[in-house]
Amino acid sequence: MPSEAMGSRSHGMNWFPCRAMRAFRTEDESRTGLRETEMTLQRNSLRPFFLVLALGLLAMGTAWSDQPERKISKLADGVYEIQHPRLSGNTTVIIGARQVFVVDSGFLPSDAQQDIAQIRQWTDRPVCFVLNTHFHNDHNLGNRTYMDAFPALTIIAHVETKKEMDLFGPGSASREEKSYANVQRMLETGKTGSGTPLSDADKAEVKAYLAQQQAVVEEVKKVKFQSATLTFDHDFSIDIGDREVQVKFLGRGNTGGDAVVYLPKEKIVIAGDLVVYPIPYVYDGYPSEWIQTLQNLAQLDAETIVPGHGPILHDKTYLYLERDFMKSAVDQMNERLRQTSPAMFQSLADVKGGVDLSSFRQRFAGNDQELGAAFDEAATHLVKVVYEEATLR
Ligand SMILES: [Zn+2]
Repeated sequence: MPSEAMGSRSHGMNWFPCRAMRAFRTEDESRTGLRETEMTLQRNSLRPFFLVLALGLLAMGTAWSDQPERKISKLADGVYEIQHPRLSGNTTVIIGARQVFVVDSGFLPSDAQQDIAQIRQWTDRPVCFVLNTHFHNDHNLGNRTYMDAFPALTIIAHVETKKEMDLFGPGSASREEKSYANVQRMLETGKTGSGTPLSDADKAEVKAYLAQQQAVVEEVKKVKFQSATLTFDHDFSIDIGDREVQVKFLGRGNTGGDAVVYLPKEKIVIAGDLVVYPIPYVYDGYPSEWIQTLQNLAQLDAETIVPGHGPILHDKTYLYLERDFMKSAVDQMNERLRQTSPAMFQSLADVKGGVDLSSFRQRFAGNDQELGAAFDEAATHLVKVVYEEATLR
């Protein structure tokens, strides 16, 4: 386990979902990788995970963090990771002698504004490039804020990422509103969507969530969607002034167009949501290809790995763990299907019992109850996605 993360845990902090993908996704949506119906669960304001599970709010994955505040880590001279406390994915700032290159612009413009103010304290050089690692809007809804601040900005994404951003980005506000309305309905009816009655404590927590989420919805409603302005399909390298930034597509994984950023001199790799710590984000995507993509990622000569969410990692242990977790699911599913018949002739219920990922629980979650519950949720979804992939073969 990476030392930094273990350090946090050993200090007795509880892991909890600061950002839970969730709520009311339909089966149709589940293949689109929509990440927009997310909720923020603030420490102390909610009994986060169990409430979320009980309410059936957590339809999708989570990015886990014990990070209640915005946190900045210096990775090298002029290279910083910004961890956001709420919905936004991590942002990495790379300052060259002439230009600044930013990886991921976050979800809320207010986060992007804060990040830009911070960048201006670090340097008077302009942000010339923003790269979006993938299309999920917790990594790119801040694009417009950067464009307004730096009009000569180029926004870069893999060609597949731009396609999907263009498809799903503009609908962000309406999905947030829909999600909010669904939670509000729970409060009005006193029941979850599946009919479980809410206790008084649950209702108080749902109310607190709604109060907090209202500001998010209002903010997202004002966002002007800004897509990528430059696409790539394999890799390229750019010198931003005494600093080489390499951008690579190492294969599909979390989405069809995951980009990673590699700083060869500094031995830093910025992985996007191909790597999410401490529980992988495996609620859609392409696990059977993701295994090799993680393998490719691990082959880069890197000592610092920036995940899409969570603290920086100082070695590749977690990368291999994530790879092994997915490989185990895919191998077991294939074995099960070899013994029976192709997936297209079977239901998920028929085959999921043939995949047992419990041996990974301890390795991801230790003895932490909330993390354990999150792992169970992630493992369930991984099996589902692996099955869906198998039905396409
Ligand atoms: Zn994300």
